[in-house]
Amino acid sequence: MIKSVLDGITVFVDRDGTLNDDPGYLTHPDGLILFPGVVEAVARLKQAGSRVVLVTNQSAVGRKYMTAVELSAIHDKLERLLKEGGGALDAIFYCPHLPDDGCDCRKPRPGLIHQAKEALGIAGACSYMVGDKLADVELANVVGAIGVLVTTSSESQPAIEAHHRGDVQIECITLSFSGAVDWILQDALTRTWREYK
Ligand SMILES: [Zn+2]
Repeated sequence: MIKSVLDGITVFVDRDGTLNDDPGYLTHPDGLILFPGVVEAVARLKQAGSRVVLVTNQSAVGRKYMTAVELSAIHDKLERLLKEGGGALDAIFYCPHLPDDGCDCRKPRPGLIHQAKEALGIAGACSYMVGDKLADVELANVVGAIGVLVTTSSESQPAIEAHHRGDVQIECITLSFSGAVDWILQDALTRTWREYK
């Protein structure tokens, strides 16, 4: 029996601009529109043995644009869509705070990753972080994950510029979440995981 390529590996995934079109503040399930190929890509990660964990900044909660219950309704829809395609999220962690709150969980600060590791019993890193924003790849660098940038939103440009300046390390820049999963499935074959925290 062939060992699954991503067995024991966690892929942390941003939400808005990575899995779905980012309308600014998404506050209702009707506004959740997944990009093409996302459902199939999450299913491929699961089939390869990966954990898939959503980590998302949702300051719309702190701004009182929506409640935590309304955010749950959006995530219920997300999980339903993924399950219909044979995929699933292992867990969702979100930061409800405002940028000025000084919390430790608003990306690029590492609190959401720490919460996930504790809740899911994830030892070591052995992980990828996929997102469309500078904060996502900065977070990858902070926690020792492999940073993957998707250019599905205009927010990716500052991250590319920071990468070119040498301010942030990005190991793959790709057009879509599906492309990110293609790359991860190949990249994982080449890794000696103990190099990572
Ligand atoms: Zn926070």
